[in-house]
Amino acid sequence: MVAKHILPNAMLGIMGGGQLGRMFTLSARSMGYRVTVLDPDPDSPAGGVADVHRCANYDDPEALRALAQTCAAVTTEFENVPADSMSYLERHVRVSPVAECVGIAQDRIREKRYISGAGLQVAPFLVIESEADLQQNLNGHLPGILKIARLGYDGKGQIRVRTPAEAKLAFASLGSKPCVLERLLSLETEISVIVTRVAPGQAVCFPVAENQHEAGILDISIVPARVDTRIAERARQMALQLAEAMDYVGVLAVEFFVCQGGDLLINEIAPRPHNSGHYTLDATLVSQFDQQVRAMCGLPPGDTRLFSPVVMVNLLGDIWRDDEPAWDKLLSQPNVHLHLYGKKSARIGRKMGHFNVLAENVESALAQALALKRMLRED
Ligand code: ADP
Ligand code: MG
Repeated sequence: MVAKHILPNAMLGIMGGGQLGRMFTLSARSMGYRVTVLDPDPDSPAGGVADVHRCANYDDPEALRALAQTCAAVTTEFENVPADSMSYLERHVRVSPVAECVGIAQDRIREKRYISGAGLQVAPFLVIESEADLQQNLNGHLPGILKIARLGYDGKGQIRVRTPAEAKLAFASLGSKPCVLERLLSLETEISVIVTRVAPGQAVCFPVAENQHEAGILDISIVPARVDTRIAERARQMALQLAEAMDYVGVLAVEFFVCQGGDLLINEIAPRPHNSGHYTLDATLVSQFDQQVRAMCGLPPGDTRLFSPVVMVNLLGDIWRDDEPAWDKLLSQPNVHLHLYGKKSARIGRKMGHFNVLAENVESALAQALALKRMLRED
């Protein structure tokens, strides 16, 4: 690495201009950095708030060359950046997280093998790469979920199966692409930890979030998570251990299953800020996006202490009808902070924004958050 610290006014680059790229961009710019976004969508949420929007594909040689030449460091907002693009950038500019780490998170098979190789527990799984792999005895993994190894997100690319015959059908309907068959677990709850790691031993975690999903998509995050303090502490230790094992630089999100009986398993990881960390925009001194900036610039991570109990609610396109949702009613609440991503069209299941409710305690934040969510839905 050439420069140790990259200081404000430098140009930072990001692969991807969705909502995560947008919040990264806003954060970097508020610290005085300039930002270039690479995203093929002319209306990308981040493109509109960046200094420079390079509107090109993620493997466009000209755009990648420009990014490498004009940026002091480059990061990513999504794990599916083409591997060749990551390795090209890595040869020419400081990149975090590195291609190797992004590659692990990109592929459920590699991810699960890597995590178990690091001595951490994952849900029992079988690798299914072809029809032949379905001939073995699947009983230990049924009922289960067949998950496509690459490019699945928000519950997409996953099918629940009860019998070997259903597993066969599901495999075919996922295009006979490599998959994992994971046993369907009886979950107590789900939690996540976001780690920021800058250098060996220089890593911090945000407080543990408790996550509730609806139709495979994150719905709300409750912080602090309502789990035993030993479970929360163990999750933080596991997340830090994984980041250390990967020699990770950047922001790493780790999703956990808390099983009935108290077992803690790693579900999956994301090599970037995570939806369950959006509460950090309002309830901690630095947000997960500030941490992404700090880490890529070689600066120490900021303080992660929670200022207030908080509940984050995702806003999906479902609540848009002819008009904008009833923002006036939401914004009449003094303890609510609304974040919208500036997406042009609202579609069912599309993440359009979120809001954070801060209150004296988690239960009142949750009650208010749920009431507001219902109000927006029914209005
Ligand atoms: P995605 O990439 O879509 O987030 P996940 O593997 O995290 O995929 O699965 C989405 C959600 O589906 C999880 O957060 C959890 O609620 C549920 N789920 C996934 N795998 C299992 C499992 N093995 N047992 C029980 N629930 C599961
Ligand atoms: Mg997930």
